Amino acid sequence: MQSCLTHFNLHQLTQAYHDPHALQLFRCVAAIALVMHPEKTTGLYTIFCLDSAKILENANIMNHYFQQARFLQSATTRKTLPAERGLEIAFAGRSNAGKSSVINQVCSQKSLARTSKTPGRTQLINFFCLPDGDFLVDLPGYGYAKVPEPVKLEWQKFIESYLTQRNTLRGLVLVMDIRHPMTEYDQTMLRWAQGRALPVHILLNKADKLTRGASANVLLQVRKTLSGFGVVSVQTFSALSKNGLDECWDILDQWLGRDADRQG
Ligand code: GDP
Repeated sequence: MQSCLTHFNLHQLTQAYHDPHALQLFRCVAAIALVMHPEKTTGLYTIFCLDSAKILENANIMNHYFQQARFLQSATTRKTLPAERGLEIAFAGRSNAGKSSVINQVCSQKSLARTSKTPGRTQLINFFCLPDGDFLVDLPGYGYAKVPEPVKLEWQKFIESYLTQRNTLRGLVLVMDIRHPMTEYDQTMLRWAQGRALPVHILLNKADKLTRGASANVLLQVRKTLSGFGVVSVQTFSALSKNGLDECWDILDQWLGRDADRQG
């Protein structure tokens, strides 16, 4: 038990949240440790309970408005884009940064953004309609995808024209993997947005992969590098634990001029 306890740290606990078996084991060890070594365990156990409560709380929160998002249509060229009406919020992210997972969490749906994962459909811009006539838009993440260079360039041109010329576009959510922030892809997106003074909100996703201290450090570093990029806000996020979802919804609500509409 003693050696078990000395190997406990918050990072391991955080990892354990995502593995039900490990979580169960940690719970048992923490409970037994509390009885056997209360003087050593109280602080740890409190943190554990508070964090567990937070996770349970997060598991239930949803935004009623975004939950009603439905797939509308895809576009491959400027001509196939839907007519400009309502407001649009675009989501971009280098492949594998977790953009689809983020969209699914924002909309409290399991597989809304999966359409973009269907082979052969990854180069599409996907439109999801919202009840008040606004839209969420899923942009292809060409940065890291295993596609030939000419195809990548085509996507890039298409995304650039969408981002720089779409009149109804209100803001861009840029999803980054917190372990690899501000890639060349991300900087390109930021430059395009800056060119037309489009607000950008950065989600440093997969924050559950780092300790809190390390996440806070990345957040600080990224903030420092953003001063030259116009109206940009940034936060840590985890599509896995839903940490940061409230903050993200606040931004989206603000961009769409809505009052908060969530339940938990
Ligand atoms: P996309 O290519 O950017 O759309 O990325 P996906 O949403 O498909 O996610 C890529 C991988 O990262 C998948 O295996 C996800 O389960 C995983 N993933 C996404 N978000 C998170 C997160 O916040 N934490 C962790 N640990 N994994 C994540």
